[in-house]
Amino acid sequence: ENLDWSVGALWTRSDQAEASSAPGADAAAPPMLHCAVIWRAPSAQAADLVEASRKAALRRGEDLPGRVWATAEPAWITDVAEDNSPRLRLAAQAGLRGAFAFPVQLGHEPCGVMEFFTRQTEPPDEPLRDVLAGVGSQIGQFIERTRAEDQLRQASAELQRSNTDLQQFAYVASHDLFEPLRMVTSYLQLLCDRYEDKLDQEAHEFIGFALDGAQRMQALIKDLLAYARVDTRGRSFEAVNCEHTFVAAMSNLKIAIDEANAVITHDALPTVQGDSVQLTQLFQNLIGNAIKFHGSEAPRIHVGAQRTGDEWTFSVRDNGIGIDPKNFERIFAIFQRLHTRHEYSGTGIGLAICKKIVERHGGRIWLESELGKGSTFWFTLPVVKREGE
Ligand code: ADP
Repeated sequence: ENLDWSVGALWTRSDQAEASSAPGADAAAPPMLHCAVIWRAPSAQAADLVEASRKAALRRGEDLPGRVWATAEPAWITDVAEDNSPRLRLAAQAGLRGAFAFPVQLGHEPCGVMEFFTRQTEPPDEPLRDVLAGVGSQIGQFIERTRAEDQLRQASAELQRSNTDLQQFAYVASHDLFEPLRMVTSYLQLLCDRYEDKLDQEAHEFIGFALDGAQRMQALIKDLLAYARVDTRGRSFEAVNCEHTFVAAMSNLKIAIDEANAVITHDALPTVQGDSVQLTQLFQNLIGNAIKFHGSEAPRIHVGAQRTGDEWTFSVRDNGIGIDPKNFERIFAIFQRLHTRHEYSGTGIGLAICKKIVERHGGRIWLESELGKGSTFWFTLPVVKREGE
């Protein structure tokens, strides 16, 4: 069969337009069909029809595309001259006879309509109608996928931007706050030293509180800066032997280990792909916490490593005070602690830094614990890719 389509048009619904063009659109206005694309064979003398189609806004049920939208079924007209819609009469004047339209489906609801005009009066046969209905649903799926991809891309770009802003803010804030704070601390100290005998007991006490507050603020800012620097000052990745990383962390923790009489054992540790400074910090923070949050017994800590596919899963297990599962999420957030600083020292940034380091390495971090029963922190790191692997 010779299809011989002379004019074809794609109609789309105004309420299905891209989200980005939505602002300013009248949400209360009923949706309409608009002609998104119209094309004609060079031989077709259908300028008036093309013009009218481009200007048209069709309600549900109006004209041929509107009828297809309303029924969600293909429809055809054997002779447009017999139809009373003004646009179809223009088609008849252009020498066209048959018209055929089918829905572009997005799920069950048409999001648009494809429309064709021909000089013939033969209605399309059953197999062709089936093919075209299939095409309509394919186009619908394509539109949906494209739209979903667009939204994903947009969301991801926004996230990236807000992340960078936050990063910048944390860095600038912590950096610039440091200097004035140092001034507060040193003048308080000066006041204390120079006016030693002129100040009474209470004044000394007040200055002590102020100094303590300023020092704590300094510690918080220092930690915030360290947190911001995980991304801004991170080094490029190389092969890192975790045996060395572990030894470095142990040496940094020597005083705490000795004071707590901690016994620390470990599996053979692998070489991973990463930033050696940050990985030392990661081990140090987790082992440091395992020592700090010990219970009545001396800390016994084991560092494990197991390979699963393309990653290594590390564990740091302790016999300490444990953590209530309801706080598992919370402790990874910045400045979140479960204890007062009088019970355990710290600012609550250690695990937030761990999380950021692990995520920068493409891994995950989580824990298993029960109050009073010790904790195990898990994290994954990528294996070193050898040639051909
Ligand atoms: P900080 O150690 O400075 O308090 P972290 O971010 O390292 O901050 O830890 C947050 C909180 O998580 C701690 O205050 C503590 O309540 C809890 N926590 C972390 N590690 C352990 C652990 N090994 N055992 C028990 N509690 C822990």
